Amino acid sequence: MFPLEPTRFDDVLKRAQAVTFARDLKLAAEELRGHTLWHVNSTATGGGVAEMLQSVLGYLQGGGVSTRWAVIDGDDEFFVVTKRIHHFLHGSKGDGGELGADERSALLSTLDRQAAALRELVQPGDVVILHDPQTVGFAPMLRGMGVPVIWSCHIGTDDPNEVTQQGWDFCMPFVQAADRVVFSRGSYVWNALDPQKVEIIPPCIDAFSPKNQWLEPDTVAAILSHSGIVPASPGMGVAPATFHRQDGISGTVYAEARMIEEQPIDPLARVVTQISRWDPLKDHQGLMDGFARFVPERLNAHLVLAGPSPDSVTDDPEGAETLDDLQVAWRQLPPESRGRVHIACLPMADVEENAAIVNSLQRRSQVIVQKSLAEGFGLTVAEAMWKEAPTVASAVGGIQDQIENGVSGILIDDPHDLAGFGEALTSLLGDPDRANALGRAAHESVRDRYLAPCYLARFLELALAVH
Ligand code: UDP
Repeated sequence: MFPLEPTRFDDVLKRAQAVTFARDLKLAAEELRGHTLWHVNSTATGGGVAEMLQSVLGYLQGGGVSTRWAVIDGDDEFFVVTKRIHHFLHGSKGDGGELGADERSALLSTLDRQAAALRELVQPGDVVILHDPQTVGFAPMLRGMGVPVIWSCHIGTDDPNEVTQQGWDFCMPFVQAADRVVFSRGSYVWNALDPQKVEIIPPCIDAFSPKNQWLEPDTVAAILSHSGIVPASPGMGVAPATFHRQDGISGTVYAEARMIEEQPIDPLARVVTQISRWDPLKDHQGLMDGFARFVPERLNAHLVLAGPSPDSVTDDPEGAETLDDLQVAWRQLPPESRGRVHIACLPMADVEENAAIVNSLQRRSQVIVQKSLAEGFGLTVAEAMWKEAPTVASAVGGIQDQIENGVSGILIDDPHDLAGFGEALTSLLGDPDRANALGRAAHESVRDRYLAPCYLARFLELALAVH
């Protein structure tokens, strides 16, 4: 994490937005002087929260607000329990196990091992922001030390059921200790929480990170060719595969993706991409099936399902299994469809290199899809929209707030409607003018609502309120 210069947003924000952002940072730096704003989560790389923290903490530091990031470590048992909580909060039983006294002990024994370190680091007068269920168990201890706690829950469901309720019941004793609870969407708020304590703050993206920075088309082509995802067009000179790292130094993409495919993508093909962790809720298989059945071959469109190399994401024990299942389903596709579907396991050793590859893939794609069955907030959707990519996504969770159907993207009401996805993709691939208009509107909407300054302003206000 590096201090980042907040004034770079002056180039992309409207003038009034930029002035407000500078004022908010200055006020927070003054009010919190001598104290630290802590963020605690369970992984430094992979997934939406880590992605966001990389940037927003940099702008806080650049703006003079002392801020630090602690990543907790856990054993396999801990992450099995936290993943189960994740599934319960989405209303599904996940691995079929329970959330009871044994799971509570497994959770607390990991947290207890880390608590001493956290107690040493966090000082009176600091404010701690705990992210997601993995860390919420720290709330009672921190409150016991007199340290204000904000718990930020990045997940939820629009239709809570009995299983969701069990997930809430399991977490509630910890959550109740927090001074404030943040959800990304109003409908995710748990029914037993004190409304006075609850805030709704959607996440954000960073316009200048390797994930979202502008890349020239020939750089995009070079990065995708170096990483082995889309070969260079015959006869085209190859530009350097470079990008700007967060510390300002130039980076180059060297690492290659592991491609699961019949043959490389035709360099002239239309590309449809979904980028996600290997999680059943992202429904890669449904998308693959819908694409194979409903996007005609004559369009020369190829589907890329891209996600992190599965051994790299330590807090997601199910990733490798989900990817294995996807491969089995891919092998069962009819040969002509299999040739149009490419599974890309992206290198994660260098997160910024990974981000530049994701950036290039999003910019190269004619259409971006997010066929999630549930989604707190689709960071990948915001990233695609910022890049003016026409996006087709399930009308679930926060995606419904992000995309205005028919204006800044296309929403499919039923996330299981494979024909609906196929038809939306087919129609956008065949109508570039409409696709461009959706992309332009998408970009404006992200600038106004989902860039880091919006998010930081809301969080700083909250931190000052509990300080
Ligand atoms: N991501 C990435 N590399 C990958 C797969 C995903 O950098 O190989 C990023 C993606 O660009 C996005 C985040 O991980 O920034 C996923 O966030 P999202 O909100 O879409 O889903 P979550 O993982 O939080 O469920």
